[in-house]
Amino acid sequence: MPAKLLDGNLLSRQLRTEIATASALLAAKGTKPGLAVILVGENPASEVYVRNKVKACQDTNIYSELIRLPVTVSEEELLLQISALNDNPKIHGILVQLPLPKQIDSHRVIESIAPMKDVDGFHVANAGALMTGKPLFKPCTPYGCMKMLESIDYPIRGSRAVIVGASNIVGKPMAMLLLQAGATITICNSKTKDIAAHTKEADILVVATGIPKMITANMVKPGAVVIDVGINRLPDGKLCGDVDFDGVKYVAGWISPVPGGVGPMTITMLLQNTLEAANHFHH
Ligand code: NDP
Repeated sequence: MPAKLLDGNLLSRQLRTEIATASALLAAKGTKPGLAVILVGENPASEVYVRNKVKACQDTNIYSELIRLPVTVSEEELLLQISALNDNPKIHGILVQLPLPKQIDSHRVIESIAPMKDVDGFHVANAGALMTGKPLFKPCTPYGCMKMLESIDYPIRGSRAVIVGASNIVGKPMAMLLLQAGATITICNSKTKDIAAHTKEADILVVATGIPKMITANMVKPGAVVIDVGINRLPDGKLCGDVDFDGVKYVAGWISPVPGGVGPMTITMLLQNTLEAANHFHH
């Protein structure tokens, strides 16, 4: 019996309709939510992400500004741009598309964003607030994964959750959100011995490593919820996740596809965070 699909496109459409309505209402009260996206250089993958984000803003009544800077831009110039956006009352959320060119210290750049406008949730103040259970903004990708679990009414409390991948933007915040929702968590990284021994125990398995199809059917507990965060481009140009979808779908109870799973949810939660930022500003 194949797994049920965690359809990120469908869920995103539902959530974006709600966001569009709430944004229009807030605009009618005088605060139109606004997002600024900064793109440095011409990385093709970043170009696609940024285009999708700006388009999603248009579809949900969110004002957006795309600021393009050349790959040679200095760190000081980028920091000046962010400082201006921090003071701009039309802008409630600021997103700097990563990765940044080598001459720029990403950490310094992220720390220069006002925490109230840090809709990616990467600022150390937001990361710390998440750790203590009171985040201003939840990082968009893990937030999207939590919404997927919520959409199927999954009983997280008391479940075993295994997160493969421990980055600051996906694995670690994902673990915090699941822990706070009452799961017992295991976080695996590249040094973990016998990954399968852990993944086979998981009721909820979230995978974010950047290794195409690393999770195979024999590594998954029958009936588990499998959320695949990975986005990898294969030599033939097709996208695939970190989970071997074609095999794992016969073992899992639920599975998210790539594309059409976590990707659209990440953008949707960026819109949600921008709306929340505008709401804070309005009150
Ligand atoms: P990073 O490269 O920052 O982190 C990868 C993590 O995976 C690290 O913690 C690393 O361990 C761990 N890892 C690497 N190899 C293995 C292995 N063999 N076994 C177990 N763990 C391993 O990646 P990101 O978190 O930024 O992204 C992960 C994937 O998710 C990528 O494919 C990326 O494109 C995708 N992504 C998708 C998003 C979406 O919207 N759907 C958003 C963000 C990312 P260690 O800490 O030891 O180095």
